[in-house]
Amino acid sequence: MLLEVRDLHVEFHTRDGVAKAVNGVSYQVDAGETLAILGESGCGKSVTAQAVMGILDMPPGRITGGEVLFQGRDLLKLKEEERRRVRGAGMAMIFQDALSSLNPVIPVGDQLGEMFVVHRGMSWKEARARAVELMDRVRIPAARERVRQYPHQFSGGMRQRIMIAMAIALEPALIIADEPTTALDVTVQAQVMDLLAELQREYRMGLVLITHDLGVVADVADRIAVMYAGRIVESAPVYDIYKAPAHPYTRGLLDSIPRLDQKGQELYAIRGLPPNLTRIPPGCAFHPRCPLARGLCRADEPPLFEVSATRGSACHFWRECLDG
Ligand code: SF4
Ligand code: MG
Repeated sequence: MLLEVRDLHVEFHTRDGVAKAVNGVSYQVDAGETLAILGESGCGKSVTAQAVMGILDMPPGRITGGEVLFQGRDLLKLKEEERRRVRGAGMAMIFQDALSSLNPVIPVGDQLGEMFVVHRGMSWKEARARAVELMDRVRIPAARERVRQYPHQFSGGMRQRIMIAMAIALEPALIIADEPTTALDVTVQAQVMDLLAELQREYRMGLVLITHDLGVVADVADRIAVMYAGRIVESAPVYDIYKAPAHPYTRGLLDSIPRLDQKGQELYAIRGLPPNLTRIPPGCAFHPRCPLARGLCRADEPPLFEVSATRGSACHFWRECLDG
């Protein structure tokens, strides 16, 4: 197994008290596999990724439990320097906002090239040639000329391609992409997502795709893990989820995707808001918003029930939900 996250817990100290951002999250990603982590903003999906990437080490966020096994080694137990080395060679991350991840005063080709100079010991001449190749590979037109340009001279979609180029430059085993296309308009979103999926297959990388938009991941994900209030509430192959969700929250997300055949109809929205993570409701955290909620839901927190060998749902009434 490439990446195995086991029972991860992360807390934040806020003025309101302790926010339980991640409450016992477990998931696995194999080489060549794409896992989408889906949820509304504030559900803990980005924090989970940051904990895995080790960019959460500073307060106020704190990992309070769990294991992050990358190629069999628990990153949380390694010394900082070793951890950085393992990660640097094996994992890369893509963020939503390329403009703030790229250095505005350095030409993009030099930012790409620097990775080969630092990590592969190449000369600048070789490294610049590799930068052009990479820009070509992510289909940036006129790469040979544009390699000398600065980030602000590229469109949002092209900048995101540069971020993808940087992520794949050292051929990592795993990429974590946090809302990689959210800032882009719909057509560009699809192109960038297709490119990412294509490279993922070509390099047989594991890909963790974090998104609030179920529509975006439909074609590229193998599995989906749905997060709510810091937990995974449903985990299943993508096909199963589309066929019939086994959790009312997943159903709500599915029903709120705009569909072409329903043009003009009012879009469904899940009522209410996600909970404040310093005051997660007792029992099932989703109960204040759930159309199927009843007494048991307010009293007992549902574990992740085994729906099938490849599927779990944290709903007491998952059968009812599956039956629609
Ligand atoms: Fe809804 Fe109850 Fe299932 Fe929670 S456990 S999702 S409240 S039906
Ligand atoms: Mg986020």
